[in-house]
Amino acid sequence: MKTIGLIGGMSWESTAEYYRLLNELTRDRLGGLHSARCVVYSVDFAEIERLQARGEWVQAGQILAAAARSLEAAGADLLLLCTNTMHKVADQIQAATAVPLIHLADATARAVRAAGLRRVGLLGTAFTMEQDFYRGRLAQGGLDVLVPDDAGRALVHRVIYEELCLGVVRDASRAAYQEVIDRLVASGAEGIVLGCTEIELLIGAADSPVAVFPTARLHAEAAVQAALADPTS
Ligand code: GLU
Repeated sequence: MKTIGLIGGMSWESTAEYYRLLNELTRDRLGGLHSARCVVYSVDFAEIERLQARGEWVQAGQILAAAARSLEAAGADLLLLCTNTMHKVADQIQAATAVPLIHLADATARAVRAAGLRRVGLLGTAFTMEQDFYRGRLAQGGLDVLVPDDAGRALVHRVIYEELCLGVVRDASRAAYQEVIDRLVASGAEGIVLGCTEIELLIGAADSPVAVFPTARLHAEAAVQAALADPTS
């Protein structure tokens, strides 16, 4: 079994979920008392969020690149960056280490295609919904990406930072997200990418009229598959 390195803490609410998912999926695959071999490097999210808000992405990337090198030194064989948003600096992180990073957008695009879908609605932070680093990567993966209108994007972004990253899950916010999802479906979305690793704490399959793609879970599944790909290692 390979050792999975997690660059986490963005926020820790979803990193805790990754940790649970990696262990559950490994137990499901191997049975008994098996659990995931992993190392977590958890950053102070306040520091990262401040840099995001100022557009100081290179500085944020340097912090995450240092985390990646620490995970390499700790024996990680593969890396997960446990946030969609910070994939904006995925190349900077990958350049700092020889350990392969499993790209979250690639794992997501594969899952959407495997479900036989192509046109998806994307929910995430404003950075993820509005910039090309994530939408473009999904498009490279063969998807057509729709995003909410201005008001919808502002709502989805606000709930992530003011509620979900603080562990607050509100019925009213779930209902508001459902309205955004309904509008995306009315515009032709065949599935909804929960493109922020905290959104799956709020929205599940039952909350959407079309399939949802929970990115933390899909990322964890891709990692466990890679970690267990060679049973002799
Ligand atoms: N976890 C979130 C994501 O997947 C948002 C927090 C962050 O900005 O990193 O994008």
